[in-house]
Amino acid sequence: MELRIERVKTPGKRPGDSELRFGQIFSDHMFNMDYTPESGWHNARIEPYGPIVMDPATMVLHYGQAIFEGLKAYRAGNGKIQLFRPERNMARFNRSARFVCIPEVDETFILNAIKKLVAIDKDWVPSAPETSLYIRPSIVAMDSYLGVRPSRTYRLFVILSPVAAYYREGFNPVKIWVTNKYVRTVRGGLGEAKTAANYAASLYGAEVAKQAGYTQVLWLDAIEHRYIEEVGTMNIFFVIDGQLVTPPLGGSILAGITRDSVLELARHWDIPASERPITINEVMTAQKNGSLQEIFGSGTAAVISPVSYLAWQDEVITVGNGGVGPMAHRFYETITDIQYGRAEDPFGWVVPVEVE
Ligand SMILES: *Cc1c(COP(=O)(O)O)cnc(C)c1O
Repeated sequence: MELRIERVKTPGKRPGDSELRFGQIFSDHMFNMDYTPESGWHNARIEPYGPIVMDPATMVLHYGQAIFEGLKAYRAGNGKIQLFRPERNMARFNRSARFVCIPEVDETFILNAIKKLVAIDKDWVPSAPETSLYIRPSIVAMDSYLGVRPSRTYRLFVILSPVAAYYREGFNPVKIWVTNKYVRTVRGGLGEAKTAANYAASLYGAEVAKQAGYTQVLWLDAIEHRYIEEVGTMNIFFVIDGQLVTPPLGGSILAGITRDSVLELARHWDIPASERPITINEVMTAQKNGSLQEIFGSGTAAVISPVSYLAWQDEVITVGNGGVGPMAHRFYETITDIQYGRAEDPFGWVVPVEVE
């Protein structure tokens, strides 16, 4: 398929690295592509960033048939730009697509289009520590129709946003609120897909947590309200008695690429790690007997996010000494060193973007 390119006439001005937050400003260009049953995916183009005009009856606005991905372009010390395991994002994009009846895409073609888009907007890749260019591919249902069925037409788009640390706290511990009242997703549902609906389902609980002074919600399973699933936009890890524990991908948890990278590093370092069901009671018991050493979240946006406080029912526990634990620190340093080209990449995780 051909990729048409139309450049902006007057490039926008990127704010200074120190002014960056998360996901508030967008680069000069975007990638667009359309799907119809007759032509399949077609009309691939990079063009000036701009609105998508929609009929008010457009299906995504009513029934939420939408998926997305999140990855980053990092500026390495030598000025080079690189991506981190992007082929994983493309594969997950197609997995998510299948969950909500969206037609699959050509993963290689989309990844090449993303590389081209980043190359064109290369000046938008910031260089201050912990900054990067966040890449958001998305597919939305475009039929104008109020009946309930999968849409026949779709729009795929990719936008770019220069970002700083995801949490205001940066690489500092966050406070987590555990709930057995609200649930995000249930086995057999959409939890394994990166889809808009999962986020809609998480908003109310997250607001309740925020009002109580917490950064994020730790979700428990929707059936027994005992098994730990994940936290906000992140997967979760526990360090108990020197062992790394994370919930298994049982059908209601997003298969994070950062999660996979942590597990692979643990294997590489001979740290005992297990993917197994873990209940909130086990965590509270480990805290009481002194074997709970660390809790941290993992995800592209925040990389590794240490958890300092955990609130469950009437108890608030301080994890470790309330600071950044050694395991979280080691994973954070190693993963970011690889992402920013400061360290060797023995795993072949880094993919360069060729700039013009
Ligand atoms: C994207 C996401 C994650 C993290 O996945 P990464 O590939 O590590 O960025 C975790 N949980 C949910 C619900 C997500 O949407």
